[in-house]
Amino acid sequence: VSEEVKTEDYLFKIVLIGDSAVGKSNLLARFARDEFYPNSKSTIGVEFQTQKMDINGKEIKAQIWDTAGQERFRAVTSAYYRGAVGALLVYDISRRQTFDSIGRWLNELHTHSDMNVVTILVGNKSDLRDAREVSTAEGKTLAEAQGLFFMETSALDSSNVAAAFQTVVKEIYNILS
Ligand code: GDP
Ligand code: MG
Repeated sequence: VSEEVKTEDYLFKIVLIGDSAVGKSNLLARFARDEFYPNSKSTIGVEFQTQKMDINGKEIKAQIWDTAGQERFRAVTSAYYRGAVGALLVYDISRRQTFDSIGRWLNELHTHSDMNVVTILVGNKSDLRDAREVSTAEGKTLAEAQGLFFMETSALDSSNVAAAFQTVVKEIYNILS
């Protein structure tokens, strides 16, 4: 195998979507920098962050896009979705309203990007056990009905954060290879 082949890059654009304050920016901060912001405002988001990952011995670059808070105004633009091959569709397990929005986010995703975009439904804030409003079974059922992967995560205690991103990247890689 020549050097050229070995260093060939895979670059996958992945978008974070879901209602305001579900923890999108913190999922990215945890995954890419192992950081958490207890009182984050919508401004901590970077436009995107590129994270190197190893999948089956191949170096993959995941270019993960975060909103700058424009989802509060339902103003995520088509440029945000353009070229995306993966998506994390995030709700907050302690706020049912954010789960009820998932259908709308799915429509928006499918309007602006390829129907085949690899998508995982993410129930974030699994650490908030006493405040849970959406059961794991409900999340699972919705994901199955919509053909999505599913995972519950906590950006606070790190549980499943890397696994959620890896699930999407692995599946994209499998489809393309
Ligand atoms: P975004 O608007 O979707 O980007 O949400 P943020 O990442 O800004 O998070 C909104 C709020 O939820 C912040 O106060 C975070 O500290 C908090 N938060 C994010 N993820 C978690 C989590 O997994 N558990 C808990 N308990 N709080 C979280
Ligand atoms: Mg944010």
